[in-house]
This record gives sequence, structure tokens and C-alpha cells, in this order.
Amino acid sequence: MHDKTLSELSALLEAGEVSSVELTRHFLDRIERHDGDCNAFITVCAESALAEAEAADRRRARGEAGPLTGLPIAHKDIFCTDGVRTSCASRMLDNFVAPYDATVVERLKAAGMVMLGKTNMDEFAMGSSNETSFYGPVKNPWDPSRVPGGSSGGSAAAVAARLAPAATGTDTGGSIRQPAALCGITGLKPTYGRISRWGMIAFASSLDQAGPMAQSAEDCALLLQAMAGFDERDSTCMDEPVPDYRAALGQSLEGLRIGLPREFFDEGLDAGVREVVEAALEVCRGLGAETVEIDLPNMKLSVPAYYVVAPAECSSNLSRFDGVRYGYRCEDPRDLEDLYLRSRGEGFGAEVKRRILVGTYALSAGYYDAYYLKAQKARRLIADDFRRAFEQVDVILGPTTPTTAFGLGEKADDPVTMYLSDIYTIAVNLAGLPGMSIPAGFSDGLPVGLQIIGNYFDEGRLLAVAHQYQQHTDWHRRLPDGYAD
Ligand code: GLN
Repeated sequence: MHDKTLSELSALLEAGEVSSVELTRHFLDRIERHDGDCNAFITVCAESALAEAEAADRRRARGEAGPLTGLPIAHKDIFCTDGVRTSCASRMLDNFVAPYDATVVERLKAAGMVMLGKTNMDEFAMGSSNETSFYGPVKNPWDPSRVPGGSSGGSAAAVAARLAPAATGTDTGGSIRQPAALCGITGLKPTYGRISRWGMIAFASSLDQAGPMAQSAEDCALLLQAMAGFDERDSTCMDEPVPDYRAALGQSLEGLRIGLPREFFDEGLDAGVREVVEAALEVCRGLGAETVEIDLPNMKLSVPAYYVVAPAECSSNLSRFDGVRYGYRCEDPRDLEDLYLRSRGEGFGAEVKRRILVGTYALSAGYYDAYYLKAQKARRLIADDFRRAFEQVDVILGPTTPTTAFGLGEKADDPVTMYLSDIYTIAVNLAGLPGMSIPAGFSDGLPVGLQIIGNYFDEGRLLAVAHQYQQHTDWHRRLPDGYAD
């Protein structure tokens, strides 16, 4: 059953061939048998999942089921979940039980989805390898000595290992696309403002965006349909109509203009990854698309600009964790200052502290203009590059990551090398554009992701390109050996 996509499982439920309770039991059983090997979950909600599944089956019996009713899903532990621990993989929130659901969780619940549990991630979504989690690293299901990517590494590994047919993720600089690529699954980061951020623990508010992670583009379309749309509780959520994403999947690639940024195919790109991406482009050409080389000349500014903007916003967002209102509090504080210092000192991990320090410095008087303002100007230049590119092409394709999954511990002591693993994804967040990663093949036995970038609110087109590609390839159906049954 676990080798089926979400859409296929939906059809089985609809046909009455399986019940939501059976499906939920099947995945809970897989989590129990396999999660010890990959550590994809922080919290498993077996009891409530079965109760939700029963409710979904009753709803179906009443004839009130939608396409997602009764299907299991796992949520990244960055989304607030009513009555369930929401840790953001930090010691700071290890004891935090959210008093309400995030909009994303609420909408998927209203559609009848069953929550299997909360997935592991980098602490406060800061990282590219899942090694900064308070709950220990996630292991890549394709090779347990390697990272799954981050920060949504638990979600990516859970879907790759088929411990859940789908999961939610968030992407501030690549955290949906990069782990999707390294684990061989399909992930979509929508346009900034497409999905409400309400109840999603903030890292860098001008960049954070939630999105679906699943086996196929069709599955992502199904999930995006329920997740997207205006929410008055998030002032940056756009009041834009939500198109029928599943209906969009049929658009052919005939005449599609694909831009290939020269900057994405430079010497930093691993030869094995390049080969896979070039073969994928050949498939798209075979389906009638034309490819043209384009330039995104300010791409080189994206990682430096991001590592000013994201830490600056993080230093401000994370100031709420003070040991007073919620979360971790140190033992026996001497006075208020001691309470703040030790609660934060003991509650946050090293990478989070590094970002708070960098961000606080960049925002301080005298440095604000030199760093923060400058980074915002670079951000505008990057967005302008994309604007010009989309006057010429419909979508932009390239690799999602410069290499396949690297070894656990390999980059853990070198933050700058770690930051460079997002070199092809970060610009998309700075510009607020939608981007996807889809499985395109393997290099030395490890999955390679193809990145598809679109214009604002053009998620339907991205999903269609991905779906057409997936109709002619089967990379997205591959399952890692250790998780076949
Ligand atoms: N790896 C990037 C970072 O550490 C992106 C993280 C993310 O998208 N949440 O900031």
C-alpha cells in the first residue's frame, strides 16, 4: 500500500477498497518498524491518528468526503498543532504544547486528513542537513551514513521511506526543495504569500513559506489546493484566487520556453548531478519544450544577502523566547537577567545562537545601513534579474543542489560550506517566487533533484511541467531498498 501515491490512495478510499483506519494503521506500523533507522519523527500521534481516521471513515460513509479525506499526512514540527508538542526541534520548545492549529494544519484537518505525527527538522529551520535538531539527525533513507538535507529533512525522509504518503514542509532558503532533492521526492515552495504563515513558527518572516512534500506533482497539486488561499490572520498572505491545480496538470510542454541560467551550470556543479539534469532537459525537449540560455547576473549576491536578511529577521523573531512566557526556563535563576541569559543560553543550540549574533550585529545602529539595507538592495537586484528572465521564458530549470546527499558530519563544523548547499535555491526565496524540486535520476545511487522555478503565482504551470515529466519517467516511484516492505 505504501508504494502508492497519495492520489492513488485517494482513489482506493473512494472506491471503498481500503478504509482510512486500515491506511492509518499501515503507516503507523511502518513508522514503528522503520523510524528507528531514519529518525524522521519527533512525535508520533498513534491514538489521535486512529480516532481521526475513524471520523474520516464516518464522514465518507455520510457521502461528505473530499479527495483528501482519510489520507494520512505528517507535519513538520514547525507548525503549531493543537494539544500536540510543537518543538521546532529545539530544546527551547521541547515542553511546548501548542494551544491552537496553524492555518495549514487547520485546513488539511478540515479537508479530512489524518495527522500521523510531527517530523524532525533543523532547529528553528536553520540548517541544510538536519544535524542541528535537538532530537538528533535524520538519516537519509537512501544511505544512512548521509544527511537527508534540511531543514525539512524529517518530512523528506518520511515520504522517501514511505512512512507517510505526504508531509508538510517550510522553505526559507531551500528547506523544502533541497531535502526533497536529496531524498528523491517531489516538493513545492509556493509564491511568498500563497499560503498563510499563521501558526508556523517564524524564522525569517519575509522569506518563510509553507508547501507540500509528496511522491508526485499530482499529489502536491492535491495538497496545495487545500493549503493555499487568503487568511486574514497573516497580513502577508495574498488575497489571490486559488486556481484548480489538478486541472492545470494536463497542460503540455509543447512550445514551452525553458530558461537555463548559465550561473546554475557553473564549475560548482557536480559532474554526476549535471549529467542527470541534462538528461532531464532532454526529456523536456522531447516533449516539445525549447531551451534557451539566460543570465541571472546577480545570482552571486544571493547567499551573502540571505545570510544578512535571514539572521536579522531571526534575531528579531527569536527574541520572544525569553524563558518567561513559554518554552524552556533555566533552573533557579538568580534574577531576571540571569533568567534571560541562561534560559536562552541553555535553550538554543549553536547554529541558532550564531544566527542571532550575526543578525543582532547586522541590525545594530551604525551597521544597519552597511549590512541590512545593502542586503535589501541586493535582494531587489536579484528579483529584477528574474523579472527580466520571465519576459523571455515561461519557466527556469536547473539543478536543485550542487551535489547529492553529503555525509553526516561532513559539513557540520563548517557553516559557510554548509550555507553553500543552498546556492541554487536561495535566490528564489529572496525574490518570493515559486520553486519545485522533482526526482530526476541518480548519481552513484543517490537521488538528484531537478529544480523548476516559475513566475509569481504560476504554481499551476510548475506542477504541470513536473507532472508531464513524471508521466514519462519513473524516478519519483523509486523506493530505497531498506524500506521496500
Ligand atoms: N539552509 C538554509 C538556512 O539554514 C535554509 C533553511 C530554510 O529554508 N529553512 O537558512
